[in-house]
Amino acid sequence: MARQVSLATQLAQSPSAWNGHIAPLILRAMTDVYITLAWIFQDREKRTDEYVKYGLGQRKLWLEHFKRSLVERGEKEPEKNLFVKALTRQLNAERFEHITEVNVGAWSERSTRKMAEEAGCLDLYRLAYTPFSTAVHSMWTHIAGYNLRRCRNPLHQFHRVPEDSDLEPDIDYVYRAAKYVAKTFALFDRETGVSVETPSSLDQFVESLAHPTGEAQTDSPDPLDDL
Ligand SMILES: [Zn+2]
Repeated sequence: MARQVSLATQLAQSPSAWNGHIAPLILRAMTDVYITLAWIFQDREKRTDEYVKYGLGQRKLWLEHFKRSLVERGEKEPEKNLFVKALTRQLNAERFEHITEVNVGAWSERSTRKMAEEAGCLDLYRLAYTPFSTAVHSMWTHIAGYNLRRCRNPLHQFHRVPEDSDLEPDIDYVYRAAKYVAKTFALFDRETGVSVETPSSLDQFVESLAHPTGEAQTDSPDPLDDL
């Protein structure tokens, strides 16, 4: 949930990223967070454990690859490399260094689609995760839409030419990020029975869009007006 808030906050603070080049990268990560959390909630203890162990296993695997690349570059004692030492210390601190299994598949041993299906959020997968993934994986539809334009020379048979287009910021991307935060908090409340009276950040965001800064609000006069 903290990760979700970080992603939304960073996006909100970066108007230059409110476009189809960058925002989908962040929004896709946010749909991933939601699906993962929803799926963990279905079998909390077992899946939390798998989630942690998979992360540590991947880090350990990366460390082994890194050590091998140091040896290939002529380093005789890779264990003495400062970076290797620091990472090994970090893994040891989690007390998993020597017992961590390296799992090279997906940590849940399921595709994200299957996880979404099992966690009852297949719509989010189909309608948000999938289209945002076209930007993450730089697929044809994304490239054709954002990084190619038609050449206007009719003698060239209207081939496409690469372009790094400047896009106007679109606050709808921030709205979607706020929506995913609210959705994640609602999931948490539902699964844990927590009930909170505080208005959600999504409600506050929508309210602030309806009453932008500087617009007079008749029902709540500014107390500083009298000073
Ligand atoms: Zn041309």
